[in-house]
Amino acid sequence: MPGALLIGDTAGLLNVPKIKGTHQAIRSGMLAAEHLAAQAEGLSSTGFDAKLRASPAMAELKKVRNIKPGFKKGMWFGLVNAGWETATAGLSPWTWRCKPDWNSLQKLDVAEKPKRDYVERTLAPRDRLAGVYFAATEHDEDQPVHLKVSNTDICITKCAEEYGNPCQRFCPAGVYEIVADGAGKRLQINAANCVHCKTCDIKDPYEIITWVTPEGGAGPNYQNL
Ligand code: SF4
Repeated sequence: MPGALLIGDTAGLLNVPKIKGTHQAIRSGMLAAEHLAAQAEGLSSTGFDAKLRASPAMAELKKVRNIKPGFKKGMWFGLVNAGWETATAGLSPWTWRCKPDWNSLQKLDVAEKPKRDYVERTLAPRDRLAGVYFAATEHDEDQPVHLKVSNTDICITKCAEEYGNPCQRFCPAGVYEIVADGAGKRLQINAANCVHCKTCDIKDPYEIITWVTPEGGAGPNYQNL
């Protein structure tokens, strides 16, 4: 991004096995400051990205790069892999890649029916719209919808058939609804409910949903969450 520097957690610098990132945030913040100062004095010819990649912050992450992706192959594989990667300090010649989030969705014809024999909970809030109410999310009702669905035909044809419209379940705020009216089935987007978790952006199996920033800083009242 011209004119922007990503540091700390925004740049994905968390050390996942240690669950620590504050030191990485400080390191990358110092590096960004040094880079800006060097740029201002005309002393730097490399970009911030190259500097960050060559820094101790990235050297630390290189040692643990395979640990989190290893758990995508199951807990036992992940544990053995984590032990190996820790013992060898990340010297493995390979790098496991993370798959996109939607990749873990199963199609209806292969998915096992979930066991629903758990005890009914009595804790409040018990439904999503009650949760939305507690989040005090607020958007002007007449602002443009900030959830862009590039092809809504897929929702009522391919997606309904293959995945059973998972957006109705993975959205924690009940934003997506398939409604039926005189013209047939269609996707209804209740954008004013959105709590800006961005799940839909990464979990939609056809990658047709794009979350964009709503107008006027609208959204949940985080202070009251
Ligand atoms: S960002 Fe989160 S709350 Fe908003 S529509 Fe997407 S899944 Fe729902």
